[in-house]
Amino acid sequence: MPTTETDEHKTLRSAVAALGKRHGPAYDREALWSEAAKLGYLGVNLPEAYGGGGGGISELSIVLEELGAAGCPLLMLVVSPAICGTVIARFGTDAQKQHWLPGLADGTRLMAFGITEPDAGSNSHRITTTAHRDGADWILTGRKVFISGVDIADATLIVGRTEDARTGRLKPCLFIVPRDAPGFTRHPIDMELHAVEKQFELVLDDVRLPPDALVGDEDAGLLQLFAGLNPERIMTAAFAIGMGRHALAKAVAYARDRTVWTTPIGAHQAIAHPLAQAHIDLELARLMMQKAAHLYDTGDDMGAGEAANMAKYAAGEACVKAVDQAVHTLGGNGLTREYGLASLITAARVARIAPVSREMILNYVSHQTLGLPKSY
Ligand SMILES: Cc1cc2nc3c(=O)[nH]c(=O)nc-3n(C[C@H](O)[C@H](O)[C@H](O)COP(=O)(O)OP(=O)(O)OC[C@H]3O[C@@H](n4cnc5c(N)ncnc54)[C@H](O)[C@@H]3O)c2cc1C
Repeated sequence: MPTTETDEHKTLRSAVAALGKRHGPAYDREALWSEAAKLGYLGVNLPEAYGGGGGGISELSIVLEELGAAGCPLLMLVVSPAICGTVIARFGTDAQKQHWLPGLADGTRLMAFGITEPDAGSNSHRITTTAHRDGADWILTGRKVFISGVDIADATLIVGRTEDARTGRLKPCLFIVPRDAPGFTRHPIDMELHAVEKQFELVLDDVRLPPDALVGDEDAGLLQLFAGLNPERIMTAAFAIGMGRHALAKAVAYARDRTVWTTPIGAHQAIAHPLAQAHIDLELARLMMQKAAHLYDTGDDMGAGEAANMAKYAAGEACVKAVDQAVHTLGGNGLTREYGLASLITAARVARIAPVSREMILNYVSHQTLGLPKSY
């Protein structure tokens, strides 16, 4: 694994940073999405044969991090090209690839992803969204919660399970559910979150789907699911690092200038050191994110799993701390709308909770890496 960034990656980073700077925190999601699409950034991880850039999650995470650092993160990058695009590219039929990938790559189509359920939460082994066959068709029934961007997505990739899973173990199956499928309804959740993408509660009431709605093999199970979930964790790390950098940059600019005694407040170590620590934490989180992306892109799904979890953990924590310290650095101004930091306090917490919470990652490392016994 390269320990420094390649020239190609540096070039991509600075080009995306320039795009982010042009749009900034007051960005119009659609305008930014379509410009990023035209520049080829949205599908940078998808196969060239389907209009993508032929790169990997390493490149896509650079795109998201830099947009986030400019204050204009595109949350749907975590979902549409990273999870859905990856799963379809790896496990879809030729027809599904032809149908979805060119649109996901050029940004004209968008896909949401739904796994979380009200009665399962972090315990995805308990999901009850169920698919059964009716002739050649599938009938899907269940509920989902906190699903992002369903209103702007052409379809949602829904994680269900087949009815005949007798062992009770998770046997996930992935279904593409079009936005307007009969029986598929959505209700926006009133989130205390300042974001351009909304979260929804979904009801799937006997949604009839054609045979080719199933992505991948009915029995391939966890392998297929984690093909999408590892990129999601890596991309959430990119989202968090971008947001943390954005907050930190605002705080540093303020601390260089704001003077209430004889020197700018940034000269006081009580202000400078926590900002320096925040920078170090973000840099370290990025290193782990790059490792995870590299492992994933080179086909090491197992190695990527552990690294992606650790990267998401480190980035979530670094982001929360950076935002907290940035708000504090601005004193009263940290809580004004004008400086745009207070709303990040809530937004930063998303990276600690989703797509897998801090505690569930600590559980994973306790059990899988350290071999400690389970409490549940
Ligand atoms: C803004 C936002 C966007 C989201 N977008 C999507 C999306 O697009 N698609 C999607 O599928 N989901 C999405 N989610 C859902 C997200 O993945 C879940 O919120 C997350 O997995 C946690 O599940 P939960 O909210 O049910 O919490 P719970 O599982 O109820 O957990 C509550 C608390 O208990 C802790 N806890 C639970 N079990 C244990 C344990 N065994 N040991 C220690 N602690 C434990 C957790 O860490 C957490 O702190 C989104 C969430 C948010 C906030």
